[in-house]
Amino acid sequence: MKNQTTIFFYVLSTYVVLQFLWWGFHLIELSNELAVQNNTNKSRIFMVIGEGSVFFLILLLGLWKIRTSIQKDIQLSQRQSNFLLSVTHELKTPLASNKLYLQTLLKHQNLDPNKQEKMLKEALNSSNRLESMIENILTATRLDNHKLELVKAMTNLSDEVNRVCQKWEIEHIKIEKSITSNISAMVDVFVLETVLVNLLDNSLKYAGKEAQISVSLQEKDGEILLSVADNGVGIPDKFKKEIFKKFTRIGNEETRTQKGTGLGLYIVSELLSFHGGEIEVKDRTGGGSIFEIRLS
Ligand code: ADP
Repeated sequence: MKNQTTIFFYVLSTYVVLQFLWWGFHLIELSNELAVQNNTNKSRIFMVIGEGSVFFLILLLGLWKIRTSIQKDIQLSQRQSNFLLSVTHELKTPLASNKLYLQTLLKHQNLDPNKQEKMLKEALNSSNRLESMIENILTATRLDNHKLELVKAMTNLSDEVNRVCQKWEIEHIKIEKSITSNISAMVDVFVLETVLVNLLDNSLKYAGKEAQISVSLQEKDGEILLSVADNGVGIPDKFKKEIFKKFTRIGNEETRTQKGTGLGLYIVSELLSFHGGEIEVKDRTGGGSIFEIRLS
């Protein structure tokens, strides 16, 4: 279907352009003959050439715009089908393992308490993963439908960033923090937490085995800078803007080892621009990435 649309577009465009040139040629020839017969000057020919060129440029511009929009649609539908594949997989995996843990616990009620605790913790972890994935899908839907409303309030950002980091550290790993105290701003706490947790989750996911994650918060020239850095695989320059688009994931579904939906960074960047902030990604010296957020 996608190929058919592209072929149809190219055939139609070539036909329209050739027809345009053909009729233009005839019009000039006709004007030429009329000019000779009536002994008039050739200003009409120049008019035809001049206006024809403008029409031709407009036609080319229109065709180029249609081509760009078809390509965007094709890319989006590819990303959407990748998204469906990975979401289905990611919903099924934790559900299946939770079901197995529950069945085992039900069947072997005299199981060693340590084993029981381990299974319950694993089940809790997968439930948390499921919850945050569903939360992300809901937030993306609310953003797309313009149903998200901000509740901004004067907040001690330093305390809030510390709180989110400490909560995250309990379930994951230690974060190296460099947080200037008493930085305050008008923020929506839900936005701040969603953004920070998404960035922290990604840092851990893409940092490999010896993950080192740092968070910094500082105020510079009237701007608040919040950054999350990791020592992971880093992001190639050509993807530095792409990764903030919906469903974008680097690599392909077959070779990718990390789970994900491609929604996290889209949500982060949309929430920030809705909130009046921006985000960019830079290379970290020594490898890895730094995600830098500016709030004004
Ligand atoms: P996903 O659910 O795939 O993690 P995201 O929108 O959060 O979706 O991220 C989009 C893509 O950006 C990821 O698939 C990954 O390829 C890349 N990426 C995100 N964060 C990092 C990071 N800290 N280091 C390296 N690559 C990253």
